Amino acid sequence: MPERPSPPPNPVEHMAGDPVLQARMRGIRRRLFVLSGKGGVGKSTVAVNLAVALARRGRRVGLLDVDVHGPSVSTMLRVPDTRVLSDENGLLVPVPAGEHLKVMSLGFLAANSNDAIVWRGPRKFSVIGQLLRDVQWGELDELVVDCPPGTGDEPLAVVQQAGTPAAAVVVTTPQQVAVADVRRCLTFCRLVGLPIAGLIENMSGYVCPHCGQTVDLYGCGGGEGLSRETGVPLLGRIPFDSAIVCGGDAGAPFVAEDTDTASTRAFYDIVDKLLPGANTP
Ligand code: ADP
Repeated sequence: MPERPSPPPNPVEHMAGDPVLQARMRGIRRRLFVLSGKGGVGKSTVAVNLAVALARRGRRVGLLDVDVHGPSVSTMLRVPDTRVLSDENGLLVPVPAGEHLKVMSLGFLAANSNDAIVWRGPRKFSVIGQLLRDVQWGELDELVVDCPPGTGDEPLAVVQQAGTPAAAVVVTTPQQVAVADVRRCLTFCRLVGLPIAGLIENMSGYVCPHCGQTVDLYGCGGGEGLSRETGVPLLGRIPFDSAIVCGGDAGAPFVAEDTDTASTRAFYDIVDKLLPGANTP
């Protein structure tokens, strides 16, 4: 009988067992993976503002953008086209983005922020692995990770390699179609053994600047229904707010402003539920 060839090693599992990767991640107290069932629901917006808000609460924060489909964190923090420096050991040095906050993005590795990044198959995984393995974060309280959308191999590669302790923050919008995707996202977390800190329902109603009434633009209650059905806590609902779009485009995260609006209040309520000791994983 001819000998059966052994199956090729799983590259993700192989990397996760890498002692260099483990050593690099050791100085990080907690990873918060910002996930969504699909693109366009505000995942990067939540990741950036979560990182900024945690830093404003005094946590030492790293923000890692591994969204292979369109890294946007560098634009949202006004650090586009940044030349990433290496330290004496050849490790990438994260870019400072305000007090207590440093950032590393796949976008920095593209020659130009307007270049389309077409990474396929093994190249995509090696780039994700490189960002996890070759960044000198130092000591961090939180590593907020803007993950690729969906529940495929890419978020799997990120979650499995970044290690523990970790928790997922899952972003959705109120419509039923989005909720179906998020249900898959919650299943994904359970399958990979990732504790879920909670759901955020984004673009949840529009607060009219004139009369103060909330209008439900995209239906309502999707996040609440899902929370009841699955037992995953709903951390909060962030309204649709044009200041969030403008802040994202201008590289000025809306939570960095000291303005008291429905959206900043909603966001800081969520952040406070994620602080250590607030019953989150
Ligand atoms: P994703 O990362 O899920 O693809 P983004 O964070 O890039 O989504 O957001 C998509 C667009 O929606 C951006 O223009 C962003 O400014 C906008 N956006 C996100 N959240 C809100 C909100 N609560 N109100 C208004 N616009 C928002």
